Amino acid sequence: MTAGEPHSIRHPGDGWVDCACGSRHWGQFGAAGLLLARRDATGAPSHVVLQHRALWSHLGGTWGVPGGALAPGETPVDGALREAHEEAGIPPGAVRILGEHVLDHGPWRYTTILADVLPGTAIDVRPTDPESLEIAWVSVDEVTDRTLLPAFAQAWPQLLERLSPV
Ligand SMILES: [Zn+2]
Repeated sequence: MTAGEPHSIRHPGDGWVDCACGSRHWGQFGAAGLLLARRDATGAPSHVVLQHRALWSHLGGTWGVPGGALAPGETPVDGALREAHEEAGIPPGAVRILGEHVLDHGPWRYTTILADVLPGTAIDVRPTDPESLEIAWVSVDEVTDRTLLPAFAQAWPQLLERLSPV
């Protein structure tokens, strides 16, 4: 679930954390999201799946990756895949996990799971719950043209580099 209760069904783990950084963050056990890429013929990442967050949600109207609060005992990979399936119709079996990027605030952490589409698989993404205005494959060159969730905007250059082949 994306932050911003009133329209959400409550899940274990939903809730705010008053963080040492002075902000409140969503997810009592932390949160995770899926940065899913597809590649061009050279193997370079060409597009990523972004979520246009519903206006009622925390920082609504910005773009980020599908994700949300972790359930108790849930790994970031499992949580990110669950949320990406719930919110964006991404089938977990069509995704190859590449690694993770952790934003660690001490009492709260956000883990971005980096992944790409299994070769030979096409994933048709779409909003599958009310938390998104839109879910789209966005060209990596156009990601920064959108109004991004601030934490995602900050991490994006590093995330893109991690998606690129070595
Ligand atoms: Zn914090």
